Amino acid sequence: MNPDFRTLLWNAIGLIGQGVFFSRFYVQWYATEKKKQVVVPVLFWWLSLMGTFLLLLYAVFYDGHRIIIAGYSLAWIPYVRNLIIHQRNKEAHLDCPGCGLSCPPRAKFCSECATRLVPGTAVSKPVLQ
Ligand SMILES: [Zn+2]
Repeated sequence: MNPDFRTLLWNAIGLIGQGVFFSRFYVQWYATEKKKQVVVPVLFWWLSLMGTFLLLLYAVFYDGHRIIIAGYSLAWIPYVRNLIIHQRNKEAHLDCPGCGLSCPPRAKFCSECATRLVPGTAVSKPVLQ
């Protein structure tokens, strides 16, 4: 591989990794401003994971800086864990049999139409084709 091309390629990967990683702050800020409360959307964790992966590749295969490699090699653990927790929480939501609203886990009544929610009796939403 041409050394100049290799440098260009890895610098592009590192720059994209930084961009993806940094963009998560704007995603989180936007979600927070939209809801007027501090929110960490699931996209934040995906961007964190993708940015970390690209920066780890850059550090391992091009930069070789051990401190940077050490930092990024463990950063993915809380990102993956938060994605797992998010998915479990999403699956535990109850669909209101009255209006179809997705209600938080352990909610007793729908916040939209006040229908009583009973776990295990959720009505599946029709699939659009
Ligand atoms: Zn409802």
